[in-house]
Amino acid sequence: MPSGLPEFLDPWRCADSEAEFTGLLALARFPRLRGLLSEADGHVTFRLRFSRDLARRAVVRGDVRARLRLICQRCLGPLEHTVEETFTLALVQGLDEMHRLPDRYEPLLAVGEIVRPLELLEDEMLLALPQIPTHPVGECEPDGVSSTGAEGLDDEATGESRPFAVLAGWRGRSRD
Ligand SMILES: [Zn+2]
Repeated sequence: MPSGLPEFLDPWRCADSEAEFTGLLALARFPRLRGLLSEADGHVTFRLRFSRDLARRAVVRGDVRARLRLICQRCLGPLEHTVEETFTLALVQGLDEMHRLPDRYEPLLAVGEIVRPLELLEDEMLLALPQIPTHPVGECEPDGVSSTGAEGLDDEATGESRPFAVLAGWRGRSRD
């Protein structure tokens, strides 16, 4: 499914021309995100709109949606998680500019004239993930803890039946 999203773009020029990109991207194209998933099937739906605000700042408004299968850090099983993020970024070229931004903007550091929009979307999704993804408390058990009554089995094994002793006796007799 083509997304129409270029691999690289010049964000300043996009802002001047009010460029807009929407589409679908395979989850498999986001390498950092993929590493956190139990399965990388599925797609990311996105929209990116570049513009200039009243102060002539280059701004990117966007949203990104995806249904992810994370890995529960308690039981290591799959954990469904829906990302639905809306963001407003302002392009900055350095830390000074970043600190002067109004609160309504998140800074997007764009030194030079190249941004990888895929990385931008990936950053936003990673920020939207729980720090330590787990199922709700009580819905799963830690990985490696099992409750198969091993003690009961041990009791039976130490009973009066002694198969090796029986075998030894049989061998001794057969040699007589
Ligand atoms: Zn779990």
